[in-house]
Amino acid sequence: MQSNLEIKTMQEAWERWGGTAQVMQLAEESVELAHACHKIVRKPKGLTELNKLAEEIADAEIMVQTVKMHLALNDLVASYRDLKMNRLKRRLDNVRP
Ligand SMILES: [Mg+2]
Repeated sequence: MQSNLEIKTMQEAWERWGGTAQVMQLAEESVELAHACHKIVRKPKGLTELNKLAEEIADAEIMVQTVKMHLALNDLVASYRDLKMNRLKRRLDNVRP
């Protein structure tokens, strides 16, 4: 759950830089998160790699929340999330150890 200050900050960023720039920022942060994930797998898991992964997760979360809020996607994303979590649960239940 976001605080009022976070929501206000996301609204200000959207108004200042525009929706196109914010969606492109989400794309950029998604790529940076993907790179951080690859590094965690490829390199020894030092504090630097874990810290970078945490930083990129935070960046991506902020941009996901910003875009969801401004494109009114919260309910649709929640619906897909339920669908996909149910599918994952069914897969897990059908796989024998
Ligand atoms: Mg980043």
